[in-house]
Amino acid sequence: MKKLALHWQILLGMVLGVVFALIMTQFEWGSKFVSNWIKPFGNMFISSLKLIAVPLILGSLIKGVSDLKDISKLSQMGGRTIGTYIITTLIAVSIGLAVVNIIKPGHSITEETRLQLVESYKGDADSKIAAAAKQKEAGPLQSLEDIVPSNIFLAASDNGNMLQVIFFAIFFGVGLILIPEEQSKPVKDFFDGFNEVILKLIDIIMLVAPYGVFALLAALIVEAPSTDLFKALSWYALSVVLGLALMMMVYAGIVYLFTKKTPKFFFNGISPAQLLAFSTSSSAATLPLTMERVEEHLGVEEEVASFVLPIGATINMDGTSLYQAVAAVFIAQAFGMDLSLSAQLGIIATATLASIGSAAVPGAGMVMLVIVLAQAGIPEAGLALIFAVDRPLDMCRTTVNITGDAAVSMIVAKSVGKLGDPKEKHWDDNYKKQ
Ligand code: ASP
Repeated sequence: MKKLALHWQILLGMVLGVVFALIMTQFEWGSKFVSNWIKPFGNMFISSLKLIAVPLILGSLIKGVSDLKDISKLSQMGGRTIGTYIITTLIAVSIGLAVVNIIKPGHSITEETRLQLVESYKGDADSKIAAAAKQKEAGPLQSLEDIVPSNIFLAASDNGNMLQVIFFAIFFGVGLILIPEEQSKPVKDFFDGFNEVILKLIDIIMLVAPYGVFALLAALIVEAPSTDLFKALSWYALSVVLGLALMMMVYAGIVYLFTKKTPKFFFNGISPAQLLAFSTSSSAATLPLTMERVEEHLGVEEEVASFVLPIGATINMDGTSLYQAVAAVFIAQAFGMDLSLSAQLGIIATATLASIGSAAVPGAGMVMLVIVLAQAGIPEAGLALIFAVDRPLDMCRTTVNITGDAAVSMIVAKSVGKLGDPKEKHWDDNYKKQ
């Protein structure tokens, strides 16, 4: 029997997860059953993806950088990558601001709903505000200082910092370029083999992806907050989703403009990673699959993908920056504040920086939103307003985050002559054989 393509399998897992959870919530014991017996499998799935992320970044970046063979090529690609990432983020924030100023979702929030929301989610909001406090107090060069790790194992640990891992990998790769060939060869050969092993592990994890997303979505549904407050926030949620949908069109447009690849080709290639990003709300957990899809299905050569994507998963969060812009203005509107043009321009700058600083894990964008609010003089307590719908919006913005990374990787690959035809060698073939 011919196997279903991966994106259909994942989609099926998602739909069945939702249906299963909806049935289970009809029983008194159902939610508990899902939390105790289904959710752990979802957590195991996410953990296994995260487990792969650090070795994947290390192995592929070291190899990617050392394959470039000279430092000028590295700085050329680095410059283009960071430059394009910043441009897409600025476009995203601008779209967010335009949408929220046109729809004005905050005006639909009554005084009563506002108080109710603030009351219901005060505790949660306070914990996010506390989490953001450290960042707010930091000096102007703190984020730069944080890039240089003092201990690679701490950087790679669970609470570690992906940017530090990236720094180490690039630094190591540069060292490899600079030593004589006969000394660097065994190290490079080692990383070649190492990367193959990691890719094989991703194959294996992907075999259980449909079951993993089933468990994740079932758990999300049974733990979702009450729907009444949901409704009050529908204009806000709609504004974020509309902005994100426009951003998707921007990607399709720029990919076509720069690479002549059609939107169908682009979205077909990247869709399994989009579904996984939606299910996990984590760009870092999705990174293994994003890399796989971009290399095997979108034709980006490994050398570029392994450089551009890990950096993108960490610093390029277009969906997050768009969401932060909409959320900040929405909260201001709900509190009856009129934001001046200069305050809104300030949001462009802070949302861009805050999205770069957001970790690639669920809910990180909301913590960094506190900084955008503080800068614009919007009450931080307003965070409680948007809590109820944050998770579904996190799922949507993460999908945009990884799509942006994929689009930029194609554009950078094209600009350095490394965009070829899709190989599809790796695992759709393996997958079908199994
Ligand atoms: N969950 C997002 C990501 O991993 C970050 C965010 O919370 O916006 O890309």
